[in-house]
Amino acid sequence: MMAIEETKTSVVPATKTTEESSLDRTLRPRSLGEFIGQAQLKKSLQVFLRAAAERKEPLEHVLLAGSPGLGKTSLAQIIARELKADIRVTAGPALTKIADLAGVLTNLKPGDVLFIDEIHRLQIAVEEVLYPAMEDFSLDLVVGQGPGAKTLRLDLPHFTLVGATTRVGMLGAPLRDRFGMTYRLNFYSEEEMHTILERSADLLTVIADDDALTEIAVRCRNTPRVANRLLKRVRDYAQVHKHRTVTRKIVREALELLEVDDRGLDATDLMVLTAMVKQFDGGPVGLQTLAAVTAEEERTLAEVVEPFLLQCGFIKRTPRGRVVTEAGLKHLGASSNRRLI
Ligand code: ADP
Repeated sequence: MMAIEETKTSVVPATKTTEESSLDRTLRPRSLGEFIGQAQLKKSLQVFLRAAAERKEPLEHVLLAGSPGLGKTSLAQIIARELKADIRVTAGPALTKIADLAGVLTNLKPGDVLFIDEIHRLQIAVEEVLYPAMEDFSLDLVVGQGPGAKTLRLDLPHFTLVGATTRVGMLGAPLRDRFGMTYRLNFYSEEEMHTILERSADLLTVIADDDALTEIAVRCRNTPRVANRLLKRVRDYAQVHKHRTVTRKIVREALELLEVDDRGLDATDLMVLTAMVKQFDGGPVGLQTLAAVTAEEERTLAEVVEPFLLQCGFIKRTPRGRVVTEAGLKHLGASSNRRLI
């Protein structure tokens, strides 16, 4: 089987770019009030935050699951702010050795929030250190080697761990069960995306009319980080073409340049759908095989492409692999016809 060799850009890279990190900081909601959507989650979190505050106890550990850019980091920071606590931020791939995690844990103060992004990517040996830390607020360190080795138990301050994951299925039960609360962040509705975009346009001083924001809201993969990114690119386009106000027409022109189609699919999504239809007769096909033929990282497919195509109803999961749906076929046909014109 041949790999498709064209280089395609993704609108949502699995890892954040430096530009994106600074954009995130500027636009990040700072309170539950500013955090738009996810109504059920906010309602539940508010109750537990209040109960913890009334008892003057740290909040129980919280696990946040959901696709990249849906607001997990923002929520972790909001939780810390609501608890009036300091937050320590790290990520699974950064904690390569037991000593890395031990260093972070022993530097916590009572009541601190420890945020571990991509917690599913912790090495198992490191993860095992977390179990007693989460459950008994203690750290078991092995001192020495061989028969003379001793386990030293250190007390840790009571802290709240907020873990974030894009792959909740990859978390083992021992870790998952140690979280007091697990929240799954959903994709946002178009109305919610419109509200988020209004706020972002305000903060970035972009003058955009209502139709323009609606157009971005429809085409942003129902994901705030993507919406903010598209808004910024549209702003660049308007500036270069000397338009003071961003209109629907300008959004359409800018998104065409970015190869984002009218449902928000980017070149990578279309490449995956096309490969499924042309090379596998619509499926079923496994993610690993798809990664090989599209030359995309399996992680990007699993965390970014697949959840969005499932959400659009363009593919579905079966026990034997992913298959393209009628709607997916129809969209692909419409999309390629448009590109032929
Ligand atoms: P994640 O950690 O899930 O990848 P982030 O919390 O970094 O996502 O969110 C990315 C950006 O999207 C934030 O900087 C913020 O601007 C925006 N954002 C995410 N969720 C919301 C929300 N519910 N309301 C407003 N803006 C949001």
